[in-house]
Amino acid sequence: MDSQERLRRRKEFDASLVYGTRKFNLLTGRDEHIGYREKHDNQWTNPKTGIIDEKFVERRRCPLCNADNFETIFVKCGFPHVRCKVCGLVYVNPILNKEEYEKLWSAEDSWESVLEAQDQIKMQTLEAQYSLDIATLYVAKKKDISICDVGCGPGTLLGEAKRRGYSVFGIEPNTRCHKHLAAKGIEYTAEFFPLSKNIGKQFDCIFLLNTLEHLRQPLKIVSEVAKLLKPSGIIYISVPCIDALVNRIMHEKAGVFAGHSHIQFFSIKTLSALLEKTGFEVLEYETIISEIGVIKNYLSFQDPYFGEHTDVLEFLTPELIYENHLARNVNMAARLR
Ligand SMILES: [Zn+2]
Repeated sequence: MDSQERLRRRKEFDASLVYGTRKFNLLTGRDEHIGYREKHDNQWTNPKTGIIDEKFVERRRCPLCNADNFETIFVKCGFPHVRCKVCGLVYVNPILNKEEYEKLWSAEDSWESVLEAQDQIKMQTLEAQYSLDIATLYVAKKKDISICDVGCGPGTLLGEAKRRGYSVFGIEPNTRCHKHLAAKGIEYTAEFFPLSKNIGKQFDCIFLLNTLEHLRQPLKIVSEVAKLLKPSGIIYISVPCIDALVNRIMHEKAGVFAGHSHIQFFSIKTLSALLEKTGFEVLEYETIISEIGVIKNYLSFQDPYFGEHTDVLEFLTPELIYENHLARNVNMAARLR
């Protein structure tokens, strides 16, 4: 796929460009989700300290380099977001302890409603097709490809992979997703990753889409993924990029930050380092979802997510954002050495 084709395909699922930001956010019920979050996001904060209460807390070292040397860049909803002074990873510290965290994730409902909206599914299906096309460029064989998706949600990517004749397996603890997986005939486990027992399978390609930013030990997670891959297997990761233009401009006001949900924020540099450390060779990366409408709303003193689309700052184009790796998520493909 040449660069023009990649650009065209990325624009097709960049909802800001397809619908306009406000319209897409209303169509997919993000207004209700944000309302829900405003009610619940501060539930762990001790009002006296403005930081999450000691009874919910787990402190941690840098999940990438294990240093304990950081500076706080901001606090949101009681969660300090810090940057490691050694490797540069941005992570939340302290985070919610394991018990609170698993309770939260097994029952998460509000975001799942967004994911079930028709227009959301339409965009995510186009994105999934694109991710499959890119990742499978690196899978040597073209038949009998086996795919696993860690944190597969309702199975958007695996459904597409199954239609292509690939054998598929999903890992998803959220109970609300299971009926969708069953309806699509996708084999899955409800366990949290890493899995406690051997599933007796190995895959040609494993996807971690919007998953690694949620999980408490990203190094361990990717090491465990390596064990589930066949020799020279491919890992394909999509995570929010800390260096995205939307984050550089809005800082803690950017929707990606909340503290209880996304607990580390990679850049191209730190994600590459994580893959190198776990035995992978990085093959390629690019960024997706420009967030151009959000940025333009914010820079026009409007509500970033629900402002009316404003045709201002014409120099800010999706091309400029993609070409400089400044879009919301970084997608990276790597091969097991
Ligand atoms: Zn570090």
